[in-house]
Amino acid sequence: MNRKKIVILGAGYGGMITTVKLQKMLGTNDAEITLVNKHDYHYQTTWLHENAAGTLHHDRTRIKIADVVNLNRVNLVQDTVVAIEQDEKKIKLENGELTYDYLVVSLGFEAATFGIPGLLEHAFTIGNINSARLIRQHIEYNFARYNNEKEERPELLNIVVGGAGFTGIEYVGELVNKVPELCKEYDIPREKVRIINVEAAPTCLPGFDEELIEYTMNYLESKGVEFKLGTMLKQVSADGVLVEKDGVQEEIPSQNVVWAAGVRGNSLVEEAGFESARGRITVGEDLRAPGYDDVFIIGDCALVMNKETGRPYPPTAQIAMQEAEVTAHNLKTLVQGGDKLEAFKPDLKGSVASLGHGQAIGVVFGGKKLFGMSAVIMKKIIDNRYLLKLGGLGLLLKKGKFNIFK
Ligand code: FAD
Ligand code: NAD
Repeated sequence: MNRKKIVILGAGYGGMITTVKLQKMLGTNDAEITLVNKHDYHYQTTWLHENAAGTLHHDRTRIKIADVVNLNRVNLVQDTVVAIEQDEKKIKLENGELTYDYLVVSLGFEAATFGIPGLLEHAFTIGNINSARLIRQHIEYNFARYNNEKEERPELLNIVVGGAGFTGIEYVGELVNKVPELCKEYDIPREKVRIINVEAAPTCLPGFDEELIEYTMNYLESKGVEFKLGTMLKQVSADGVLVEKDGVQEEIPSQNVVWAAGVRGNSLVEEAGFESARGRITVGEDLRAPGYDDVFIIGDCALVMNKETGRPYPPTAQIAMQEAEVTAHNLKTLVQGGDKLEAFKPDLKGSVASLGHGQAIGVVFGGKKLFGMSAVIMKKIIDNRYLLKLGGLGLLLKKGKFNIFK
């Protein structure tokens, strides 16, 4: 019996859906499946802005892998990938080494920092459970410090968010709910706290529907968010940021700088020597890496061109999950000796962004605009649908979001 070895790197949306599909689709004699992940839990990246603001506890966001993956069927290796050696079909881990017949790279994203001075040292990014928890605790600590300082220290209370794409907007939406709570807790007048969202493009959510952009701006401004549009964040230091608009520079004092201005693929794929642009590999229709018929790349490490627009599909959980389904199907074909692989065809269902408690916006089903409560309900449906898909009714009841006002 020649059982093929399938190794899946990363238990995010792409890795988890590939694994749960494969464990159902393949018999024990077909393949040995190994899932490698830094932690023994999977987290829903799409909820991390809530954890970073402190409006949702991070234990709601993480799910024990053992609760949804059958560990009699899948080897779970809790370790950190340090190198992919695709020519030798080897994976180097911090604590060992693995070999594979087929590899799935689903290692997700990193913040794109564009070489901005001081960013790595002084700004926070919303990237995983630990980085989100750190942001929440850091801001709370600075609020706690504020009334214990002899001088006025606005940098402790100013929160600067770099980027008003979906991540930046969803995060400031949570902050408008959290900041009043923190003010009450730490005896701080609300008007002393500034939430400043800096965006290089002339609008927030560049490229999105204009009416929904206006709705978003009006709502968030009414809750005290200051937008600095057409403004580049140029530099970060220990005590603030330097921004520039129309050649005019301004310093904003802040020790709470959260960088949400773009993502790139995991740098391990670049280091492995795959041809990539900012850590994203342009994959073939069947999601394999060019020149490597035994390597599938999915999720935020993969780049798939939209032939209609001539631009790549954006890195989203929605796409990562759809890619995972095709990859599981293609792996089944390969291990069972077939060679007719399925081509990946994204089925874009729309985008919905939360703006905090009881508020959201979105465009779904090819153009239907949603805002307010209808968008909130749609967002909950999307989140709950994922849980159902991943772990069935049990997981949905344990981790689902059912309160439309929170
Ligand atoms: P990820 O889900 O990021 O998972 C990667 C996994 O790999 C993680 O478990 C990580 O721990 C593991 N890993 C990384 N490096 C290593 C290593 N060296 N060794 C071992 N394990 C490793 N998209 C949507 O479609 N809808 C949304 O509403 C939405 N909201 C978002 C909100 C926020 C705040 C953010 C930041 C993103 C959001 N996105 C959303 C984008 C979406 O989260 C990503 O596109 C998606 O997570 C990509 O899935 P993935 O499987 O490629 O990687
Ligand atoms: P993004 O690339 O979509 O947005 C980053 C924003 O930062 C852009 O608007 C850009 O103009 C701005 N920016 C870049 N450099 C800047 C600078 N120096 N100064 C000021 N502004 C700067 O990144 P994101 O928001 O992190 O989203 C990443 C991916 O995740 C996207 O594909 C997005 O669609 C997806 N996402 C989806 C949702 C959702 O569907 N609800 C939520 C979050 C993220």
